Amino acid sequence: MQNGPGSMTDRQYFDEGALVSVLTVEPVGRFLDYLAPEGGVIDGAYVEVPLGPRKVLGVVWGPGEGGYDLAKVKPIARIVDVPAMSMSMREFLERMGEYTITSKTSMLRLATRAPGLMVPPGMQKVLRRGIGEPDRMTDARRRVLAVLDDHPGMGFRPGELSALAGVTSSVVTGLVKQGIVVEGAEPKDQPYVRMDPDYGAKDLSDDQGGAAAELVARVAKGGYATTLLKGVTGSGKTEVYLEAVAETLRKGRQALVLLPEIALTVEFLNRVEDRFGARPAEWHSGVTMGERRRCWKMVAEGGAQLVVGARSALFLPFQDLGLIVVDEEHDGSYKQEDGVLYHARDMAVLRASIDQAQVVLASATPSLESWANAEAGKYHRIDLTERFGAAEMPDMAAIDMRDEPMEVNRWISPTMVDEITRRMADGEQSLLFLNRRGFAPLTLCRACGHQIGCDDCDARMVEHRFIKRLVCHQCGASKPIPETCPSCGVEGKLAPIGPGVERLAEETAERFPDARIAILSSDLADSARALKARIEEIASGGADIIIGTQMVAKGHNFPHLTLVGVVDADLGLQGGDLRAAEKCFQLIRQVAGRAGRVEKKGQVYLQTHQPDHPVIKAILGGDEEGFWKAEAEARHRAGAPPYGRMAGIILSGPDEAAVYEHARMLARNAGALTQIGAQLFGPAAAPIARIRGRHRVRLLVKADKGAPLQAALRKWAYQAKIPPKIRLSIDIDPQSFY
Ligand code: ADP
Ligand code: ZN
Repeated sequence: MQNGPGSMTDRQYFDEGALVSVLTVEPVGRFLDYLAPEGGVIDGAYVEVPLGPRKVLGVVWGPGEGGYDLAKVKPIARIVDVPAMSMSMREFLERMGEYTITSKTSMLRLATRAPGLMVPPGMQKVLRRGIGEPDRMTDARRRVLAVLDDHPGMGFRPGELSALAGVTSSVVTGLVKQGIVVEGAEPKDQPYVRMDPDYGAKDLSDDQGGAAAELVARVAKGGYATTLLKGVTGSGKTEVYLEAVAETLRKGRQALVLLPEIALTVEFLNRVEDRFGARPAEWHSGVTMGERRRCWKMVAEGGAQLVVGARSALFLPFQDLGLIVVDEEHDGSYKQEDGVLYHARDMAVLRASIDQAQVVLASATPSLESWANAEAGKYHRIDLTERFGAAEMPDMAAIDMRDEPMEVNRWISPTMVDEITRRMADGEQSLLFLNRRGFAPLTLCRACGHQIGCDDCDARMVEHRFIKRLVCHQCGASKPIPETCPSCGVEGKLAPIGPGVERLAEETAERFPDARIAILSSDLADSARALKARIEEIASGGADIIIGTQMVAKGHNFPHLTLVGVVDADLGLQGGDLRAAEKCFQLIRQVAGRAGRVEKKGQVYLQTHQPDHPVIKAILGGDEEGFWKAEAEARHRAGAPPYGRMAGIILSGPDEAAVYEHARMLARNAGALTQIGAQLFGPAAAPIARIRGRHRVRLLVKADKGAPLQAALRKWAYQAKIPPKIRLSIDIDPQSFY
């Protein structure tokens, strides 16, 4: 590892007995002073300190404050056996905490989300090369031995060895029985298998090669810069940014690839392995606790060169981070919507600027924020305009629903039915896209007009026929579908209104009795793993018709898919969200990108009642830059992000009157905001006025781009004590308004 910004050279060292300041993961609201233990302690060290009757995890954060009776200060109990936090990591946590108005304690918690950091690792079983040759040499056995011979002396966990060799575990077991591979034990948390940057380089197309060379040059030069890699789906963005990863590894620095959780598939990890000859460290919700700790520690020690992870991987303790890739950078899931509210894309840029690292933001449909930053020259921009190899972009057309003869409670138009029938005859896949989970979004009593709502939220209950219940999509509460109307008591009059994917699947099954139909909806899989397995099965041809919600839009490859039908293209055009048009545009273009990814040209149909709507026309016409320019102009005029700044303040509590009272008090005393020229809107009931029994009131602050918003917000929002039972949360750059 280089002497990067995380090097130890500029660190303060505290001799035994010196007063140091410690930030703990406990919400005490301030730094605590302790004495350096025997042997002293380095600034940034992870330590265990006594706090009341307990011992808690903390980090040494500079010299202590002093100014009181030193005899009462306790010494640090123990230095935890992990590398000290780098100064750049400290700076990142501090600056992100200031930006998002988050306490340092909460920031430290984000950075230490690995279980068992304080306990020394246990032992684990590993396999090594024994002596001799197997009785019978097979191809599979040869592969296992080749992996072991490539890494002399190294111990592999059994699963790791069979995965790397690409054999079943029984092949490895067979070799163990013969003593050709021997079992041993070593402490857990071993380094990851070294990656070889020159292992499996692909031949790149001219376009790809040019883009890769540009990124490689930036990595080679070092320092911070952000590049927007905008490439149509299937253009090979992954292959291109993996070259930037390769150069980072060559320089001995660490790399991080962020993906939306759902895109973290085996397929992706296999591609990384094909390129570098070893699997990366993984960090996401599907990783076991033990693996999480190993990942955290190895990132800190330099035993992990590349981490592939979900947004929280941004808080891993990299010692020398050289590159962050944010794949599918426009994806809404990068915004953390509870706990610490942050946008992982923006925080990736912050972290990289502190670590002197490069950022690559990859997308086929970038966010307006990134587009505007490129336009303003803050980001570089590289475009990949063609699909790799023979694959072509799909044709797009509208189906004007005003002209289609539709029966009641039917949503697939006759034109769409014909198209699907043709694909089935040719052995190709079709996808019907509808961004609505469940069976029907609304259950209505035909006798009295009552709509069934959630008991704890102001939201309608959505019928889910698979589980035979009504579900609240806000809080997750569910109840059986009643026989009689809870309002008027009349029996047998409750009717589902409108389609969800489950209902669409029912219609599809009726119309195509011979088709193999697969539904892809986040709530229909038992686990993330099961879902991934399902996606892979579908990709290999295991379905004729795929019915999907927005999760199908996220970066999966369906090579047999040639038809995409958007069932209700108008759905995303409604709603008061300032990003409605942007999201609709991105989502439909992403879904469209699933069609015809390999050899056959794809076709996309949008069912719409408004074929002349500007967003629908922009999607159909493919005039992307035109769309972005128009959208940018509209936001500019409105002073909306990214041309102005916003913050959402949500107050919530069990007593509606008390929540409003505090909100009105804040609105009356908004001097700190008017001083910076900011405008305050509200208080108003939040779009979802009640969640889990808590009444929610929101205020919205709008300010000029250059205004010192955070300082003013802090002064204003915390001017008075927040009454008990009321919660206040501040959402800087809010993405959704719920
Ligand atoms: P994107 O991320 O832009 O949608 P991918 O990187 O997933 O595109 O590439 C699409 C497909 O084309 C993948 O299956 C990938 O392996 C393949 N591909 C892209 N570039 C190359 C290349 N230079 N050589 C071989 N296969 C490639
Ligand atoms: Zn609810």
